[in-house]
Amino acid sequence: MGQNIVVTGIVLSVMPVGEYDKRITLLTKERGKLNAFARGARRQNSQLLAAASPFAFGEFELFEGRNSYTVYKATIRNYFRELLEDLDATYYGCYFLEFAAYYCQENNDERELLKLLYQSLRALASSAYDNRLVRCIFELKALAVNGEGPNVFSCLKCGKKEELTWFFTERGGTFCESCGSGQGARAGLFHMEESTRYAMQYIISSRVEKLYTFSVSVKVLEELETILKSYMERYLGHRFKSLEMLESGI
Ligand SMILES: [Zn+2]
Repeated sequence: MGQNIVVTGIVLSVMPVGEYDKRITLLTKERGKLNAFARGARRQNSQLLAAASPFAFGEFELFEGRNSYTVYKATIRNYFRELLEDLDATYYGCYFLEFAAYYCQENNDERELLKLLYQSLRALASSAYDNRLVRCIFELKALAVNGEGPNVFSCLKCGKKEELTWFFTERGGTFCESCGSGQGARAGLFHMEESTRYAMQYIISSRVEKLYTFSVSVKVLEELETILKSYMERYLGHRFKSLEMLESGI
């Protein structure tokens, strides 16, 4: 027998099914990622029309069948409308949703990722933050939350905790000045500002609620972008469709 449950979450993606239905992917506090049918959600008078859309965040009442979930009611608290009014922010937001859909698991504790996603979308919606920095913070924190972040607190060769001026993708983290210099010029080896190393340490060690409280110089932002691109290619190795759109600047 099935049962009714209430979950708090956000719609990551939507797929039309048949003539009037949708299948939505939700990231929830209670059950991680899950797929649910929203029957009749494409009808103009459906109560679920707006709720079954990407970015909709709130409470979803689901019927849990043997093999699938069905949404029958939703109370949406945030549609992220201010974000959707800005094309650039929307592209970043779509990327974050796609990233979460790829990265999160069903029946897994994804509360930190959900919190990170929510705070990151809020930061995109606000004009106070540079969207490129929001992206760096989101990517690095997502990797760290999943235990796949780089080690940026000591030299991966000698263990030293000072003068961590190099980032070496192949080894998954920082090298000190002398160990890094000893590597010669290599792909994936980057010399960086102290502020870049500090920003990475801050992102990895801070609570999600405290992440969007700082800004960085253009130089530091560029270094963060370069390092994260290299690191993500090496350890995630997935091409996101929304990222192609974002980077082609359409
Ligand atoms: Zn060292």
